[in-house]
Amino acid sequence: PPRISFRNVGLRYFSPRGETEALRGIDLDIRPGEFVAIVGQSGCGKSTLLSLLAGLVPPGSGTVAIDGVPVTGPGRRVGFMLQQDTLFEWRTILENTLLGPELQGGDMAAARRRAEALLTRYGLGEFMHHKPGQLSGGMRQRAALARTMCLEPDILLLDEPFSALDFQTRLMLADEIADIIRREGKTAILVTHDIPEAISMADRVVVLSRRPGRIRAIHDIAFPSAGG
Ligand code: ADP
Ligand code: ADP
Repeated sequence: PPRISFRNVGLRYFSPRGETEALRGIDLDIRPGEFVAIVGQSGCGKSTLLSLLAGLVPPGSGTVAIDGVPVTGPGRRVGFMLQQDTLFEWRTILENTLLGPELQGGDMAAARRRAEALLTRYGLGEFMHHKPGQLSGGMRQRAALARTMCLEPDILLLDEPFSALDFQTRLMLADEIADIIRREGKTAILVTHDIPEAISMADRVVVLSRRPGRIRAIHDIAFPSAGG
């Protein structure tokens, strides 16, 4: 069964300036552990798709489901990584990583062990007690990923995660992040308008057309076989 399913999903925004049909007739299944990229021009509905999955907006028509259960609001199974990392400058990297568990409550000693292990795996072991201002853009994004992963989401949403970074950093980081996400067995959806980035990171690339956003094509890149 799919981890994520969109069934005939449509969505319109209403604003004082009028009505915008952002998405129409979206049908898409995503397998557990699959990495899917959504590409298309600005305004084609990419962010709206992520918002639906995150439970931030309800679909106007159709259903969005995780493991067969319709999404009705924000839940703990979905984590975000955003373009602009939102690290707090006055907190250390470790303290930033622990922010989510602090807000959720629960076993902080376990959360701290998890955070330290994640940061070490992401090459930030020596920088745990540094402030974000002392880190490079790429390191900040890895710290932002650690913070998301510390909440142990099954599904990771990446919204233009590298677009604020310089070209060299993004090339390196795109591969690194894709590897990390695969190794940890997460199901991921990447939204980007950078097609090379989509192809290098994803198993499948979904192309959206604009106004209304519809699926125009789905390209299979690869799906790693079990154990491979
Ligand atoms: P993308 O992420 O691909 O740029 P979006 O999902 O942000 O596309 O937007 C899809 C369409 O919906 C665009 O035409 C955009 O202008 C419109 N839209 C997005 N959010 C709102 C909103 N809150 N109110 C009105 N229109 C919106
Ligand atoms: P816009 O949303 O207007 O297109 P961006 O989000 O691309 O702008 O970037 C805004 C600014 O924030 C950029 O000039 C960039 O230098 C800075 N910035 C964003 N993310 C980071 C980061 N991870 N590390 C350092 N600086 C960043």
